[in-house]
Amino acid sequence: MDNLASDPRSGWEIYRSPEDRSAMYELADSYLAYLSSAKTEREAVAGVISALTSAGFTEGFGSAKAWQSLHGKALFAARRGRRPLSEGIRLISAHTDSPRLDLKQHPLIEQAGIGQAKTHYYGGLRKYQWFARPLALHGVIVRSDGTSVTVSLGESSDEPCFTIADLLPHLAHNAASPKLSEAFSAEKLNVILGHEPVLREGETDAPKDPVRMRVLQLLHEKYGIREDDLISAELEAVPAGPARYVGLDRGLVGGYGQDDRICVYTAMRALLDAADPEYTICVIFWDKEEIGSDGSTGASSRFLQYCVEDMADAWEPGTPFRRIMMNTKAISGDVHAGVDPDWQDRHELKNSAFLGKGVAFCKFTGSRGKYGANDAHPEYLGWMRGVLDAKGIPWQMAELGKVDVGGGGTVALFLAAYGMDVVDAGPALIGMHSPFELSSVPDIYAAKLAYQAFFEAE
Ligand code: MN
Ligand code: MN
Repeated sequence: MDNLASDPRSGWEIYRSPEDRSAMYELADSYLAYLSSAKTEREAVAGVISALTSAGFTEGFGSAKAWQSLHGKALFAARRGRRPLSEGIRLISAHTDSPRLDLKQHPLIEQAGIGQAKTHYYGGLRKYQWFARPLALHGVIVRSDGTSVTVSLGESSDEPCFTIADLLPHLAHNAASPKLSEAFSAEKLNVILGHEPVLREGETDAPKDPVRMRVLQLLHEKYGIREDDLISAELEAVPAGPARYVGLDRGLVGGYGQDDRICVYTAMRALLDAADPEYTICVIFWDKEEIGSDGSTGASSRFLQYCVEDMADAWEPGTPFRRIMMNTKAISGDVHAGVDPDWQDRHELKNSAFLGKGVAFCKFTGSRGKYGANDAHPEYLGWMRGVLDAKGIPWQMAELGKVDVGGGGTVALFLAAYGMDVVDAGPALIGMHSPFELSSVPDIYAAKLAYQAFFEAE
């Protein structure tokens, strides 16, 4: 009777040999470096392209290891397999964008002798988490002549950082306590950029906003830009500083943007490390997932279709796109909500993901009666279980919180629309969408091995 009951195993138990531990931490070390350098969707894609290029991948489909990018924010990459494309591809998706504070197109203001940048938040975030912490600015500014500057400021200790100040407790004795969702106004998410005014040359020519003018001077000195250049810019205020190990045992990774760069990184490593593939193996990394997957670089765009059509034209002309898609097997690589030890009441613990118990599968996402869900077919789940169990990879099956409490969407339904089999699978996080999300070191390893086993499966 011992093996009749379901008993998800801990990745710590499975990966206990010195060889496994060494490989597990080699992956975690390199993931930490990637995560620390990938604070925006463009930086996430650039890091992947750099790794692909080092591994011999080329742009376009002129070789058997190829990639194609859109606006440097979305990326498709493929390794040609032995079987014809008409038998389908093996595809893993993930998303490159993360919640953050975008600078407005007219960002620069001055109030009370402080120069600030107004922001418009991107994605689902809890506003209070963004106050009183060091922030960095990352992004791109495009001048009207088409030239551009790349910005990354506030990461290293010899650079200044930025911040949003929070109200001191002494002035927060409101008689009526507002609800948390109303206590923090989006229009108060103003990033402090400076404090020094432009000094007056005489008694007559004091500029109206001297601190704002000094900020503009410094931006011009550093980047050669004028205020109007910020109209055609994408500047993102993100948590400053590198990702870190957390805990005496270094058992957790803490950092910004693990949703979903943890899946981007592990899927990329799986693509690179998979043995000569039977089927053509591909990754698609989309942008805009956190705001509904619209836009030319999001999952509802035609980018994937165009890439697969280009690939078929180059490698096997005449193969109908629909035949490739209908025979494709896919994983929607996205993070799952791990059980937070202090918020266990939000989960139904029999159907929840626990950190350390391996890659978390989710048969369906959506909310309130599975509305808006891809619902993976049982035949596909059965096949997937076989692939993972054959290699002894720890995995778990979970829902996103209690019914009618939790819920959320991923890009799985956009893949399912093509007719392919698809299921969500990725590491569980604690503190998802916060400036310091937590993942489990063995789960990172399990995710990479699970993705690789999926790529290598016949
Ligand atoms: Mn996600
Ligand atoms: Mn998310």
